[in-house]
Order: sequence, then C-alpha cells, then structure tokens
Amino acid sequence: HADSAMYKAKQLGRNNFQFYTRELNQVLTERMAIEYRLRHAIENEEFLLYYQPKIELASGRICGAEALIRWQPPDAPLVSPLSFIPIAEETGQIEKIGRWVLYQACLAANRFQRILGRPLPVAVNVSPRQFRQRDLIGTIAETLAATQIAAHTLELEITESCLAHDTPQFIKTLHGLKALGLTLAIDDFGTGYSSMAYLKDFPVDRLKIDKAFVGNLEHESTDAAILKAIIALGHSLGLKVVAEGVESGQQSAYLLQNGCDEAQGYWFGQPLPETEFCELLARSNADDGRRPQNPDPYDR
Ligand code: C2E
Ligand code: MG
Ligand code: MG
Ligand code: MG
Repeated sequence: HADSAMYKAKQLGRNNFQFYTRELNQVLTERMAIEYRLRHAIENEEFLLYYQPKIELASGRICGAEALIRWQPPDAPLVSPLSFIPIAEETGQIEKIGRWVLYQACLAANRFQRILGRPLPVAVNVSPRQFRQRDLIGTIAETLAATQIAAHTLELEITESCLAHDTPQFIKTLHGLKALGLTLAIDDFGTGYSSMAYLKDFPVDRLKIDKAFVGNLEHESTDAAILKAIIALGHSLGLKVVAEGVESGQQSAYLLQNGCDEAQGYWFGQPLPETEFCELLARSNADDGRRPQNPDPYDR
C-alpha cells in the first residue's frame, strides 16, 4: 500500500501532492500502529488459530485441517491475517509469530489425533521470511519432538512468491524439510510466479489451486478449463491436488468429476476455533468420518 501510494504521488505530480501526502501518511501511520501493537500480541495472548477442514472428495471424509491465524486485539474486532501478516513479514515479527503458529498447530494436531484415534494432517502457512531463518529445520524438529507429532502429520504451505526466491539456501531448506518427513504444498497455485520450472526442481508433494479459479467456475469456462489443466498437470507430476475456496455443490461436483483429490471451502466448512473444530471431528468420527450432511457454512 505504502509503495503504491508513493508511486501514485510521484505519477500525479505537484497538483495532487497534498492529497497523496495525506493518503500516504495515513497508510504509514496505520502500518506503524499495527507494527507497534503486534509487538506484545504474543505475550498478551492475542493470537488464535482457527482450523478449516480439508475433505477427500472421493469419500467425503475430513482428511486434514489448515491452521489459519487470527488476531484479537483487546479493544478492536478480530483482524484478518491479510492485514497484519504482510506487515509482520516486512518487520521480521513473522519469525516469532511463525514459531508460535507452528507450536500451537502441532499441539492441536496432537489433540486431533487423540479425538480420532489416528493422526490428522495439519497444514501451516509459512511465509518467505521464515524460510530464510537459518534455524527453521531445527525449530520444526524440536517442535515435533516437544508435541509428539509424527513429521508426516505436519504439512507446510508455501506460496509461489516464496518459491521465487530459489536460492541454493532455499532449495537446501526444502530438501531438509523433506528429509525430516514433512509434506510440502504450494499454496495459491496459479496466481504467483509465472514460471513453472520450480515444479521440476522443488521437492513438493501437493498443489493447492487458488480460490480465484474456483469461485466462478460455473460461470467462467476459462476457469473450468484452467482447473482441469492444473489437476492434470499436478497428477502427471505425481502430486496431490487440492482446491481451495469451494463454495458450492456444483463446484465440488466439477472438481470430483475432474479427479481433484481434496477440497477446502465454505461449502464443506469454514475455519473454526479449535474447540469447535474438535467437536466437528468428534461428530464426523462418530459418523464414520463423513462430514455432517447439508453443511451450512454459517451454522456455528
Ligand atoms: P491461504 O493460506 O490461501 O488460506 C485460505 C484463505 O481462504 C483463508 O483466509 C480462508 O479463511 C479463506 N477461505 C476458506 N474457504 C473459503 C471459501 O470457500 N471462500 C473464500 N472466499 N475464502 C475461503 P484467511 O484465514 O483470511 O487467511 C488469508 C491468508 O493469510 C492465508 O491464505 C495465508 O496466506 C495467510 N495466513 C493465514 N494464517 C497464516 C499463518 O499462520 N502464517 C502465515 N505466514 N500466513 C498465514
Ligand atoms: Mg494456505
Ligand atoms: Mg491459498
Ligand atoms: Mg491466499
């Protein structure tokens, strides 16, 4: 935001100088306020993890969960990660937040496992800066040991922008994580970095098709075609393919018909606080692992 405001200010020149200075100031002030308030958010226990179910399309069973962070400042409404993760990424605060997320998600994975009597894969989003942390692999190994979670239960979701930093160090990290036994997924596939060369070189296990291609699938034949092509591409490379942002039965049916392995979205269930997610798991377990019939995404 700050960059684009600055760019606009430059483009528009002197006449609009005052207006854009004001806009720029506002953006910067807001950023600084968020950065400042993030400083004590962990100690003050202001972060929460929500969990969204992943569904195996062929069986309709819950086959995993994605951990999604939320921020609840004491005196303001719940903040979306889209408004603070990019700032935390720039300031470096993401390193500490990321460690907290990993630990909490693994603790939750342990609880999910107790409820189900078998491991449930839990996915955690990891941002580019975390990948540049020298101790990432060590931290993850320690977290797995401390929470008594098998490595294959933990999945890391990496965005394409992260893969654009394909330095030797980065590739070494990916291989180290694979060697540890983790599952690696490319998140928001299709929206980021335009080259697909990394699919050849990087040891990833899964593609998560961005919701941008799913949401309009009934009305956009191009989206439907792209989806089909990504599923085929993933499978021909031996990868599992997951669709995100599935909001209708029609979308779900199309994905199943075209061989997509797993799906995630409001149609199956929205992200839930941990206790509610545990209740969902317990119910679905009693029901032979199938999700409840006629899910209402807003039924909480
Ligand atoms: P993402 O990893 O691609 O997560 C999927 C986003 O889509 C989530 O937004 C989820 O709530 C939302 N979503 C799920 N189902 C549907 C649906 O049917 N329709 C629509 N329109 N949206 C759906 P959320 O929770 O706001 O997270 C946004 C992004 O913030 C995530 O995108 C991820 O990139 C980032 N993020 C979230 N938690 C973390 C975290 O712990 N660490 C890091 N580094 N990034 C995180
Ligand atoms: Mg994700
Ligand atoms: Mg995504
Ligand atoms: Mg996303």
